[in-house]
Amino acid sequence: MSFGRAIILKTAALKPIERLVRRSFLFRGVVKRFIAGDTLAEAMQVAEELAARGMNISLDYLGENTTKREEAEQATSMFMEIVRAIAASPHRDKINISIKLTQCGLDIDPAWAEDNYRRLLWLAAESNTFVRVDMESTDYTERTVSLIERVFQDFKNTGTVLQSYLKRSMDDTRRMITLGARVRVVKGAYLEPEQLTVPDKAATDRQYVEMAKLLMQEGNYPAIATHDEKIILELKQWAAEQGIGKEKFEWQMLYGIRRDLQSSLHEEGYNVRVYIPFGDSWYPYFTRRLAERPANMWFIVKAMFRK
Ligand SMILES: Cc1cc2nc3c(=O)[nH]c(=O)nc-3n(C[C@H](O)[C@H](O)[C@H](O)COP(=O)(O)OP(=O)(O)OC[C@H]3O[C@@H](n4cnc5c(N)ncnc54)[C@H](O)[C@@H]3O)c2cc1C
Repeated sequence: MSFGRAIILKTAALKPIERLVRRSFLFRGVVKRFIAGDTLAEAMQVAEELAARGMNISLDYLGENTTKREEAEQATSMFMEIVRAIAASPHRDKINISIKLTQCGLDIDPAWAEDNYRRLLWLAAESNTFVRVDMESTDYTERTVSLIERVFQDFKNTGTVLQSYLKRSMDDTRRMITLGARVRVVKGAYLEPEQLTVPDKAATDRQYVEMAKLLMQEGNYPAIATHDEKIILELKQWAAEQGIGKEKFEWQMLYGIRRDLQSSLHEEGYNVRVYIPFGDSWYPYFTRRLAERPANMWFIVKAMFRK
């Protein structure tokens, strides 16, 4: 992880900074760039507009590291509400949901969290809705991968995310391929101990390409989630040379980031999915997006000087 990125993540984690960002009107415009709104209705409106233009969507109700039972219950109810809203949408075939296991209560009671997740999968299966389990920090990697291995025996409408900045991820990729579960490959967004990660950004990028190629060759409809144009170009050329059809995988990008690239890939005939976060617990998600591209701080500086 770069020095600048680590500084932003560490500073943002300080409570007084969080209070300042949450209260200041200066940040509102920047937050709106990345977050679809506070409510499910707002998120569904954005999702349906994008779906009508041919995009696929994954809805993400923001929140993580839930420590209170009531909060996990509330998050699980919201996931169910999202699944019902998807089932009622004319674009239901294009919309799915992403969740975090800590929102289901993994830090409170793992067995209960698994039960919440299974109840959601049960409901989602009725409308053929896919449930993606986002990958969180390394405190949760093994628990997430092994939970998917267990739950996938009963529910095929689920899969997870693997991060190329982790040393262990090639092994996890093979585990998911053996299982047959869908994988979203990402570079990774958390501040992690050095001994668990590959040495630098170049190694993260190399492992990303390696994981993506293996998944495109042997995996189940992988999601290649990145805004890295160089990697996208390399994988497009490689897939064409290997005779891997455009329908065999999808590109995924975050709402508000590289809309131009999202549209051009869609126009070229690829499947593209936009990850749409919503809800009022936007702070950790927002700071990870700022840290990924310190140039995003420029939007804030501009807002400060706007009359
Ligand atoms: C659909 C999706 C789901 C994700 N789910 C997870 C998850 O479950 N767990 C997890 O750890 N991480 C997740 N991530 C985040 C991921 O790990 C990276 O942190 C993020 O995608 C940035 O990496 P990159 O691949 O775009 O490449 P980078 O090398 O970081 O960036 C490549 C280029 O993309 C553009 N870019 C990247 N980020 C931004 C930004 N924030 N603002 C503006 N431009 C930007 C810039 O032009 C940059 O030069 C997800 C990402 C996506 C797209």
